[in-house]
Amino acid sequence: MQVTEHLKNAKGKTLFSFEILPPLKGKSIQSIYDGIEPLMEFDPKFINVTYHREEYIYKTRENGLLEKVSIRKRPGTVGICAAIINKYNVDAVPHLICGGFSKEETENALIDLHFLGIDNVLALRGDAVKTEANFRPHANGHAYARELVDQIVQMNDGQYLMDDVSLDPTNFCIGVAGYPEKHFEAMNLPSDMEYLKQKVDAGADYIVTQMFFDNTKYFEFVDKCRANGINVPIIPGLKPIKTLKHTSFLPKFFHIDFPDELAENLLKCKSNDEVKALGIEWGIKQAKELKEAGVPCIHFYTMSNSESVKTIAKEVF
Ligand code: FAD
Repeated sequence: MQVTEHLKNAKGKTLFSFEILPPLKGKSIQSIYDGIEPLMEFDPKFINVTYHREEYIYKTRENGLLEKVSIRKRPGTVGICAAIINKYNVDAVPHLICGGFSKEETENALIDLHFLGIDNVLALRGDAVKTEANFRPHANGHAYARELVDQIVQMNDGQYLMDDVSLDPTNFCIGVAGYPEKHFEAMNLPSDMEYLKQKVDAGADYIVTQMFFDNTKYFEFVDKCRANGINVPIIPGLKPIKTLKHTSFLPKFFHIDFPDELAENLLKCKSNDEVKALGIEWGIKQAKELKEAGVPCIHFYTMSNSESVKTIAKEVF
């Protein structure tokens, strides 16, 4: 079933959903099940599975020269989605990115998803490969998520790349990313919002936000979206902080700020256990307030570790 149908069927109740990462290459799918099972009691209507593009490493050849090798550390997004649907009878939302894909590869990936009975896709641009400073689209691919949305909408209309004739239409519900604190490459929030509006006008059905730790940022973002004519559901994304490393990694990697009160309390933490306890406490506070405000769904970034999310969900759902 499509995510938007789930939201409609909830009739105003806040749904619970979460996101997982495929395991590192060579690891068993059991680690995915171990992450999902503790959260099933909260009745997730959909589970997102992230997509991880290729990285480049240098290997020393026998003659001493360096060889640039492409590797994907976390393949398996589509297979995991199919396994989730099969094992738990819960809808899975694969993330699909522009980076590294030609339009034809995107089309073929979407055909696979369609054949597997997957009705949802989160359409993203993706980031630059780790060894490059800026995002570079595939020569015959998409430069922005909006173009990927266009392609999915065309397939939903039965328009594939190769032909003018109308083919079997797909039926994807399309989610896109939104950034309450602005995407890091955007000039400012209004221009970022203009591009977000383009994604929605192109046919995106809902938005999932980047993680945030200050609910005010989310509420203001929703108000601005509405003022700019973006009227689709906006699902807030939450991540419980868990380790001392997170205190610098999350702001740096995700380009988000911790609010003063949280930052002051994090500074007092001396161990990962203390950070984890604070992360849970903060997550409960955030989630309760969002639920009281009537958000359609709260989407948790588990990073494939469900313990903190379970403790939060127990208090909130
Ligand atoms: P876009 O919407 O294309 O925007 C990218 C930038 O370009 C923005 O700064 C925007 O303002 C600007 N822009 C947009 N259109 C135009 C235009 N026409 N002209 C000029 N500028 C423009 N990454 C992964 O690799 N795998 C994942 O699974 C994944 N999951 C994610 C899930 C969520 C909920 C979120 C919020 C992010 C996720 N990401 C993932 C990260 C995401 O790929 C990056 O943040 C990426 O840098 C931007 O993706 P986007 O889809 O928001 O891009």
